[in-house]
Amino acid sequence: MNLLHELKEIVGEENVLHDPVDLSVYECDAETLDLSLPDYVVLPASTKEVSRVLKLAHEHKIPVSPRGAGTGLSGGATPVHGGISLVLTRMTKILQIDPYEQTATVQTGCTNASVSEASKAHNLHFAPDPSSGIASTIGGNIAENAGGPHCLKYGMTTNHVLGATVVMSDGSIAKFNNWYQSPDVDLLGLLVGSEGTMAIVTEAILKLTPNSQSIQTLLAYFPTVSHCGKAVSAIVSTGVIPSAMELVDQITLNAVEDYLHMGLDRSAAALLIVELDGMEERIAIERKMVEEQIRRHKATSLEWATNAYERMKIWKARKSAFGALGRVTPHGYVLDGVVPRSRLAEAIELIDKIGEKWNLQIANVAHAGDGNLHPCLLYNRDNKEQVERVIKAGQEILHVCVQVGGTLSGEHGIGVEKIHDMPFVFSQDDLEIMLKVRDVFDPAGIMNPGKVIPTPKRCGETGDRPLLRHQVLSGC
Ligand SMILES: Cc1cc2nc3c(=O)[nH]c(=O)nc-3n(C[C@H](O)[C@H](O)[C@H](O)COP(=O)(O)OP(=O)(O)OC[C@H]3O[C@@H](n4cnc5c(N)ncnc54)[C@H](O)[C@@H]3O)c2cc1C
Repeated sequence: MNLLHELKEIVGEENVLHDPVDLSVYECDAETLDLSLPDYVVLPASTKEVSRVLKLAHEHKIPVSPRGAGTGLSGGATPVHGGISLVLTRMTKILQIDPYEQTATVQTGCTNASVSEASKAHNLHFAPDPSSGIASTIGGNIAENAGGPHCLKYGMTTNHVLGATVVMSDGSIAKFNNWYQSPDVDLLGLLVGSEGTMAIVTEAILKLTPNSQSIQTLLAYFPTVSHCGKAVSAIVSTGVIPSAMELVDQITLNAVEDYLHMGLDRSAAALLIVELDGMEERIAIERKMVEEQIRRHKATSLEWATNAYERMKIWKARKSAFGALGRVTPHGYVLDGVVPRSRLAEAIELIDKIGEKWNLQIANVAHAGDGNLHPCLLYNRDNKEQVERVIKAGQEILHVCVQVGGTLSGEHGIGVEKIHDMPFVFSQDDLEIMLKVRDVFDPAGIMNPGKVIPTPKRCGETGDRPLLRHQVLSGC
């Protein structure tokens, strides 16, 4: 039997795509500079089916790129060496909500938002809240160790995963556990953030967080990004840990205002959202401390949401930021370098200079409390010369982040996008050790090859920069 027939036999005829038009939907994720078609798209419905697909791929030595919703911003799900794009979006079951243990057991193709929705009746939620939460899957969140505005206080995805059922590259099924101080090696710690290079996560036990008694959200405007950045550092240095601190610059806030018409101050250089949560008495004290720092850093206005509707509107503005930028140019390249919080303002000034140097408009949104920047380089993919400038400017921005004491990624991962920048941060020895660990999980080298770490021994990569980006530039 040939491979196509065998795949169809496992998941059903309608769940294997191989027509070129169907395949083109899976040629990239939300990072659209790197494109590569899979040979097959396979949509399994259970751990057993995933296991059988992996056994087959292992036997035929075919690369497998796991995929959730494809909202990744580093090309993680892009099948750079072809093979199978293994899409888990049929596996959406919330298997159990346990209000006593405060856990959710889910199939990993369910969306991030659906977990909080399912636990709402118990006054619980899943704390990691990527802005893509209504679409991105728990599997994608685990693989990227996703963050979000509220991870400043509550921690990233890795702090909220207690167990996982995984399928290894040879098709075997294993359970990793981090519950109740489990005495085994912390394999779960290795798995979260491994970007689909170690195993396919099919089910997960997630930690749920009780909803806060009280939440207060503030919107402040600043005359410069620098004043805003310094206010963020000053707030944290008082000892207050807001649940979120988000910065939105002028280009972005104007795009959002064009979209939502909610009365944002278009003249402000930066907007800061600060959210406090917890017991009412404590918030009352923290409110004063936050206000003092914001005023000291010359905010032009400061307003607290007075009800849940106003609060929801503020978050709608923040969460619409990237979508709204689509009104400015048809394409945007979103980076996610991290810098020490104290150097946020300096880093944004340096990024502005890179924009001027390459004659590019760069919008900035940041999980400011974490020092996690999201510069968005605005461009039109039909303009090849502009695309080249975008790629070069993007790399310079990441290097600036590293030079001011930060690193390449805060939450979007390395994927294919930053793979050739890894030696800028890690030594050859560091990379070799990481590869050895990866080899233990996937000795055959079929799990998402061409991602995270250059793998010349496996895929014949040359180590030269744009492996796939040339295809965009040459219009392939
Ligand atoms: C508008 C927008 C806003 C965003 N905001 C945020 C944000 O606030 N915070 C943030 O962290 N990210 C954000 N992202 C990036 C993205 O949403 C996250 O990285 C998310 O976790 C990806 O989930 P996904 O289901 O789309 O995964 P995909 O893009 O499909 O895949 C991402 C990676 O996970 C691997 N993978 C997927 N499923 C599995 C699985 N079951 N087992 C093993 N590996 C798997 C893939 O191989 C790939 O390497 C945003 C993206 C967009 C477009």
